[in-house]
Amino acid sequence: GSTIGILGGGQLGRMTAMAAARLGYRTVVFAPEAHSIAADVSAGYVQGAYDDGDALGRFAAKVDVITYEFENVPESTVAMCARYKPVRPGTAPLFVAQHRLREKAFFRDSGLGTADYQPIRTEADVASATAFPGILKTCTEGYDGKGQARVSSREDLASAWNRLGRRECILEVLVDFDCEVSAIVARGLDGQARCFPIGLNDHRDGILRTTTVPSGLPAETLTIAERYGLQLAEKLDLVGLVALEMFVTSDGKVLANEMAPRPHNSGHWTLDACATSQFEQLVRAICGLPLGAVDILAPSRMVNLIGPEADDWARYVAEPTARLHLYGKGKARPGRKMGHVTYVTVPQE
Ligand code: ATP
Ligand code: MG
Ligand code: MG
Repeated sequence: GSTIGILGGGQLGRMTAMAAARLGYRTVVFAPEAHSIAADVSAGYVQGAYDDGDALGRFAAKVDVITYEFENVPESTVAMCARYKPVRPGTAPLFVAQHRLREKAFFRDSGLGTADYQPIRTEADVASATAFPGILKTCTEGYDGKGQARVSSREDLASAWNRLGRRECILEVLVDFDCEVSAIVARGLDGQARCFPIGLNDHRDGILRTTTVPSGLPAETLTIAERYGLQLAEKLDLVGLVALEMFVTSDGKVLANEMAPRPHNSGHWTLDACATSQFEQLVRAICGLPLGAVDILAPSRMVNLIGPEADDWARYVAEPTARLHLYGKGKARPGRKMGHVTYVTVPQE
């Protein structure tokens, strides 16, 4: 097909649309907002609620293949779209990614190591919990560290669980990690998969701050991280892209934290410093093209521009090794991802 439909109108959809355009594909965006930054760079826009069957039908009629740019798109939305056109990836990865307990169990089934964890659904679960110090997370809807609390005792846990509205939660052992990394894997219609070089991620206030590639980690660690990513893509029977966030401990253990079946913030460096970007790779995968090469072209560091930081854009334009990406969002609210910069020569600290 020659037109790609994208569910969701944010920056990931925007950068996917730009990559699609470069390969000669048109894109049509579906999102509920009156204005979408993905639609700004697309040929078409269908505005509608995610449960509006008529609007989804009109959207599907305009495209040949459909993907999504956020993992909380309702499964029912994807199922409705799938009646008309192939959705890649489909509902299976969403089912896993939208629920932290299912996700952790799926990791284990796929042969990936994880932190120890236990479900917190009832008072009895709280009273018998042993995963301390731990981190309590709602099973659904959390992102950027929202819906999480660190707890060191059952008393802590009880009050944190109350604060989270006694929703279904997962209690994970707090991992004393050395660093955080991510694997981004594309898998095509023919089952061929490729993993981008592992990125080293640094967070601030629960939000990704920088990704550095190469990571500088030992080859054995990188091999495990890549293998985890590839095993996950295989087990999901994925057609598209999946990002896997992992912890690396001081003794070289790799533990899978969470996944997202879409392009990922920690893969933005690929736009400027990799033979193929993660967005182009997604387009290739869902359109049945061969996957592109994933060689690193230059050591790089991606820095997110969060909130008013992006107002400083002129500074980045003036830096010779900085490549600036602004998402065209309006107001720079605190914590909002407004753009990013990729330094194609890693600055010395
Ligand atoms: P994202 O914005 O990446 O989707 P999220 O809100 O879904 O984030 P996680 O990625 O699970 O949540 O957690 C956010 C951060 O909190 C992690 O990147 C890590 O720094 C820390 N963290 C989460 N779980 C653990 C754990 N079990 N042990 C130690 N640190 C953790
Ligand atoms: Mg998450
Ligand atoms: Mg995360």
